[in-house]
Amino acid sequence: MSVLLLNASYEPLRIISWQRAICLQLSERADVIEAVEGRALHTSGGAEFAFPSVIRLREMVVVPFRRGAAPITRRALLARDRGECQKTGCDRRGATMDHLIPKSRGGQHTWINVVLMCAEHNNTKSNRTIEELGWSLKNVPRAPTRADLALDRSDANPQWHRWLNRFGDSNERQAG
Ligand SMILES: [Zn+2]
Repeated sequence: MSVLLLNASYEPLRIISWQRAICLQLSERADVIEAVEGRALHTSGGAEFAFPSVIRLREMVVVPFRRGAAPITRRALLARDRGECQKTGCDRRGATMDHLIPKSRGGQHTWINVVLMCAEHNNTKSNRTIEELGWSLKNVPRAPTRADLALDRSDANPQWHRWLNRFGDSNERQAG
């Protein structure tokens, strides 16, 4: 079971193990913001603690500026594009990765140049750009946000959503 760690500003920082979360709580460096309902921790002395789902640091930590954000992996791309072909009007699965400006024409392997596309549309597009084909995209390609990546986890907790959504675009701004 994992725990979402928030900065003192309530900005999501990362996902940590519950053991680490308890350590932060016991050392009085963090407080529980959301607890897992119906679950508690008991110490040998008989004290009872809420089982954390979201915790917040008492002191602000400075997060280094991360240009370019997360590496481009299949999993991260699936999370960002929600698994769908990004051509407007297509509801098929995005089974392939397309470079909007084809690599053969100088396109870069960067977040703003890659999208998920179904095999059929990728095949049709081939070495052309979407402008040349008169196509449009559902979303403007960007680096995935922390929210994209955290909500994609198999152990994502519904209690995390409101905290991740509040700052859903913070990574995007940082990534430029
Ligand atoms: Zn498609």
